[in-house]
Amino acid sequence: MSLVVYNTLSREKEPFEPLDESHVRLYVCGPTVYDYVHIGNARPVVVFDVLYRLLQRRHPKVTYVRNITDIDDRIIVRAAENKESIEALTTRTGAAYQGDMARLGALPPSAEPRATEYVGQMVALIERLVARGHAYAAEGHVLFSVPSMEDYGRLSRRSRDELIAGARVEVAPYKKDPADFVLWKPSTDAQPGWPSPWGRGRPGWHIECSAMSGSLLGETFDIHAGGLDLIFPHHENEIAQSRSAFGHAMMAKYWMHNGFLNISGEKMSKSLGNFFTVHELLDQYPGEAIRLLLLSAHYRQPLDFTHEGLVQAKATLDRWYGALRGKTLAPVAIPQAVEDALSDDINTPLAISALHQLRDPSELKAGANALGLLQQDAEAWFRWTPAAAADGPSDTEIEAAIAARQAARKAKDFKESDRIRDDLKAKGVILEDGPKGTTWKRG
Ligand code: AMP
Ligand code: ZN
Repeated sequence: MSLVVYNTLSREKEPFEPLDESHVRLYVCGPTVYDYVHIGNARPVVVFDVLYRLLQRRHPKVTYVRNITDIDDRIIVRAAENKESIEALTTRTGAAYQGDMARLGALPPSAEPRATEYVGQMVALIERLVARGHAYAAEGHVLFSVPSMEDYGRLSRRSRDELIAGARVEVAPYKKDPADFVLWKPSTDAQPGWPSPWGRGRPGWHIECSAMSGSLLGETFDIHAGGLDLIFPHHENEIAQSRSAFGHAMMAKYWMHNGFLNISGEKMSKSLGNFFTVHELLDQYPGEAIRLLLLSAHYRQPLDFTHEGLVQAKATLDRWYGALRGKTLAPVAIPQAVEDALSDDINTPLAISALHQLRDPSELKAGANALGLLQQDAEAWFRWTPAAAADGPSDTEIEAAIAARQAARKAKDFKESDRIRDDLKAKGVILEDGPKGTTWKRG
């Protein structure tokens, strides 16, 4: 089945027809790194990783760019609070983000640009906008002139009044039109800044993604994605910048947006304080359990986060890994029902229910792999241990105890072999005797 995706631009599902069949180009807006990211931030990373995997199966070349925003006023404030340099902060939190996303089974994108590496390209883009009459300098700032673009607002479909209200910025005196937005702003000596034709300053947020996508994917590309909250103003403004600078009728052909991860019906967010970081959850649950939870709802639907949901996801994976355990797995094609579900606008809940129907362990593994699940060896899965239990016996200690138990059984010292088993059980390690010997799991 060919791929169909919901395009926010048309508000309809459309057949996916890339600009160039042989080279698909995808951009996903990444996080601002000033601390550990929360599990809501991981939702776009995980759902669009499933899309990336599907595109890679069907096209000879896929370039996937997922940026890291490492310049932002929240970063400046946090670095000052922590009494560390901005670079030290963003290097640390950027690396933690990459590590946590890898533990969720997300493939590394083709490029993961940091905004600060592209300031030169941002300045060049702003100069181009000024030269074309789409931007103007005022009091050290450069602003995008919204009235200079005839069809501004097509993505978010907002009325002009809503646009102005939604911009949520005080109408600064240097703005010619209240809807105009910042491309460049001046920096004080204490703030990070770069030289520019308008003085020392730093870029606005939206221009970052126009510069990075333009540099790495081209002036027009196939898919641009991110969370629902980015439709306005971020993506609307990216479109305005890129189309006005490059002079094309489109920036990206398809715009895809994931729904929110909620907690008690409210959007999980740093500002509300109702969040769990991926980093802390990875101490309590395996990465694949978090990934399965994130894929359990369709990406455009809201998804309510609960610990119960993670416990259930882990139980499902325990069952699946249990079915693979000790089996010889043949490389087989991804089951059609799974491919069909994913082809229909990445319908992961339907794909997961198809996995539940599969009886052949080789097919189960192939189907789950399409979702980035069941990626590990079953024995390794059952050895996973929560961080709180990390002071229990090590793998080597457990295996030594199993060997000692084996020796006791051989010598018919069943009292000793039971003692070893009970001792391990008290330490949270469960032994299972099977035809191929003894296996164990932490549980
Ligand atoms: P930010 O660092 O806030 O720009 O967010 C990084 C990415 O996470 C963006 O694609 C956001 O749309 C997305 N995002 C933020 N909060 C949530 C949430 N609660 N649920 C789903 N996606 C989110
Ligand atoms: Zn962006």
